[in-house]
Amino acid sequence: MHNVLDMRTALLRWYDDQGRTLPWRVRPEDRVRGIVPNPYAIWLSEVMSQQTTLAHATPYWEAYRSAFPTVVDLANADREVILSMWAGLGYYARARNLHKCAGVVRDEHRGVFPTDEKTLLSLPGIGPYTAATIAAICADEATNIVDGNVERVISRSFAYASPLPKGRKGLRDLAGTLVRADRPGDYGQALMDLGATICSPKNPTCLLCPWQTWCVAHAQGEETKYPIKTKKKQIPVRYGYGYVLQCSGEILVERRPDKGLLGGMLGSPTSAWGDKPTDHSAAPMKRNWEAKGEIRHVFTHFELRLEVFTAEIDQRVDGEWVSDISGLPTVFRKVVEAGLA
Ligand code: SF4
Repeated sequence: MHNVLDMRTALLRWYDDQGRTLPWRVRPEDRVRGIVPNPYAIWLSEVMSQQTTLAHATPYWEAYRSAFPTVVDLANADREVILSMWAGLGYYARARNLHKCAGVVRDEHRGVFPTDEKTLLSLPGIGPYTAATIAAICADEATNIVDGNVERVISRSFAYASPLPKGRKGLRDLAGTLVRADRPGDYGQALMDLGATICSPKNPTCLLCPWQTWCVAHAQGEETKYPIKTKKKQIPVRYGYGYVLQCSGEILVERRPDKGLLGGMLGSPTSAWGDKPTDHSAAPMKRNWEAKGEIRHVFTHFELRLEVFTAEIDQRVDGEWVSDISGLPTVFRKVVEAGLA
């Protein structure tokens, strides 16, 4: 039988003792000393850590915080600089929204990052999860913070039977029944930490878990059965060609159109991407192309396979040339690396 208040107490005690220390986080002992969380820093961390690990996102967070100490600095920065610093984090629409959102905070909120859930939800690129997180952590608003980690912990603790994604709303509502006005930010962060460190997807360490007493999945010995998910359909494969044109140690790149996948980013020239392998004889530049093999990259909704071709020329053609490829999205770095191999 679940006792919500006891579960909260046990979780918060565990967090006080063993919650993670993160560069943007104000730990309970520091809050007592009067240190308050910075909503701009929290927002950056939340946007950057979506769809990736904290270990991967943290150096990006540090680079952005040092280059743009305030949200107004970020708003005033060149969008191309922001995009190139984002390279390797994926989901580039987030970087574009980051800049847009900073502009709205500068222009419509006098440069002060909002902390209430309703206003946060009105900002570009801020969804329910990020709004709930910032509001709970920075304004002690009793919001319902639910990310993938929280879904896993709650679904296991209650042996939630409806498969996701359809059952997601019910699971969210269930998580909401545990929300209280007492330390909502710490509670949300504790739950996220529990999912990230103890209640892991494949090997939960239930013996160390503060919710072990109440967890139904653990009692059933079926922890990894939850959350139950409807089987995903296989994602489609798209095909094309990628071209690496070299001249004196530099590579030809082109800026992609603003709209669409990887919009506004620099990338290698490619053919159109289609459902079937396309015809390389339609290469955009007539050269002595040398085949360098295939690279594969998985996006959210499809896998891209590009046959890479390279050529070297003595005289540059019109276009943008770069020697440093660290600012290119991962898929194009793969293309260039294959082309130079
Ligand atoms: S007891 Fe195990 S399965 Fe249940 S919440 Fe804790 S770590 Fe997860």
